[in-house]
Amino acid sequence: MKVGNIDVHIISDGQVRLDGGSLFGVVPRPLWRNLAPVDRKNRVAIALNCLLVRTGDKNILIDTGVGAKHPPRRRALFAMAAGRLLPGLKQHGLEASDIDMVVLTHLHFDHAGGATRLVRGKLVPTFPKARYIVQQRDWAEATCTNDRTRPAYFPDDFLPLHEHGVLDLVDGQADLAPSVRVHRTGGHTAGHQMVLVHSEGEQLACLGDVFPTHHHLRPHWITSWDGYPMDTVAAKRDVLTQAERENWRLLFGHGTQHRAGRLVRRDGQISLEPAPLD
Ligand SMILES: [Zn+2]
Repeated sequence: MKVGNIDVHIISDGQVRLDGGSLFGVVPRPLWRNLAPVDRKNRVAIALNCLLVRTGDKNILIDTGVGAKHPPRRRALFAMAAGRLLPGLKQHGLEASDIDMVVLTHLHFDHAGGATRLVRGKLVPTFPKARYIVQQRDWAEATCTNDRTRPAYFPDDFLPLHEHGVLDLVDGQADLAPSVRVHRTGGHTAGHQMVLVHSEGEQLACLGDVFPTHHHLRPHWITSWDGYPMDTVAAKRDVLTQAERENWRLLFGHGTQHRAGRLVRRDGQISLEPAPLD
């Protein structure tokens, strides 16, 4: 699939299951249960959609899923069926060493887990030749957690990036390549960022966890993992306004039913027109 003259491919790392209450925050279960079926532990399956961007001279990966290195207890808790990112890249003829840049929307384990892997008992960056791009404020939050934020950050996912000298911290808006720009949204984490791929007047926004699925287009449907929900409300409003005005394509990082689409307005209400990317 193309954005202007840029090739993009969604590659899923697999799926995990999250408690339905945590995925939909303050929204009561009767309002979401018909949209998102639960298992017997009240967990909803969510996808781990990553994006491969091929600009011609660079291979850029946005988010890395959970990866395959988590201990059995954690794997069971989140019913992790993942670690498919590298095989997915192979289907596009790429090895881990062919990736030039990895952009992480934030450092929660379901986005940064695949950033590192275990090789003979040692943690190393999964993509050995890549620079890893993280917002400064997310790095600060991930490396200085409190009782509220700790459960979502696992240092094994990101400290090795610093130790191997492959980490680049950015602050706010930054152009990473001629067609790839990041914007800090905050909300989900203080340094959460979305990634905009733009070329020849077309835009594709990787929304991270400000809009984890298309269900979260509703303004107050916000996960309870969000550290700053009022900031999420404001970020969602800004993104929706711009996305509608400029006819962006949107990529939902955890979407299973719809992974991508455009906004349409019917009777004053915004909804999604699905637009498969591959
Ligand atoms: Zn997430």
